[in-house]
Amino acid sequence: MQKKDFLYEGKAKIIYRTDDPVHVLVEFKDDATAFDGVKKDRLEDKGVLNNRLSAHFFSLLEQHGINTHYIKTISDREMLVKSLEIIPVEVIVRNIAAGSLSKRLGIPEKTELKKTVLEFSLKDDELHDPMINHYHIYAMDLAKPEEMAEMERVALKVNEILVPYLKDKNIVLVDFKLEFGRHNGEIVLGDEISPDTCRFWDSSSGEKMDKDRFRRDMGGVVEAYREVLRRLEGGENPAVEGES
Ligand code: UDP
Repeated sequence: MQKKDFLYEGKAKIIYRTDDPVHVLVEFKDDATAFDGVKKDRLEDKGVLNNRLSAHFFSLLEQHGINTHYIKTISDREMLVKSLEIIPVEVIVRNIAAGSLSKRLGIPEKTELKKTVLEFSLKDDELHDPMINHYHIYAMDLAKPEEMAEMERVALKVNEILVPYLKDKNIVLVDFKLEFGRHNGEIVLGDEISPDTCRFWDSSSGEKMDKDRFRRDMGGVVEAYREVLRRLEGGENPAVEGES
């Protein structure tokens, strides 16, 4: 596999072409952004941790029969993935009220939801990722009904797999965001699964172990990500290159 020209740079990742047209390389950056890029910082080693955390989650999901874009880890910051035609719909899965749901509906944070909630947003920074429903999705031809059915099925299955898996590591999976794409006519789970895209709370203390630490200026962001990785990998402090 040969890394070729730059394809696309997002807020936290850079995508490169490879010599194989059906595979691309994802490089995880240390950049952190929140509130549509208004708040920005560089968090040393975040990219390394998110590369490893995402690889861990994608491998786990593949073992459970989920079709993900993950192929293999290439380096500390890089993974090889299937090239997807991204569907511009973010799928949010919620188990406990937090963040925008609490604000929008007045449900106090930490309230356990009686039923898992699925939400959809249009992936568009300029429009601030507005929430949309199936009618908007079909009216804008963002995805077909059968594709939406598959995305919803997979999103709920991912939740069913991750909730008990994380509970066993003393982590509550509060909510998370998934992105999907098309590859060879199939719907494939793409993007990343990391503390940048999930809310993780320590089961005992309730302490936040995710990007909310950055959004809310709580400090200890990278330390929390490293602790999530330590719990997943079940070892001592995971070694991260560049760490003194
Ligand atoms: N999320 C994300 N990217 C987005 C919006 C949300 O990864 O553009 C994740 C977020 O980290 C959280 C979940 O989706 O785990 C629900 O986020 P929410 O709608 O509460 O928005 P926020 O409060 O993060 O603005």
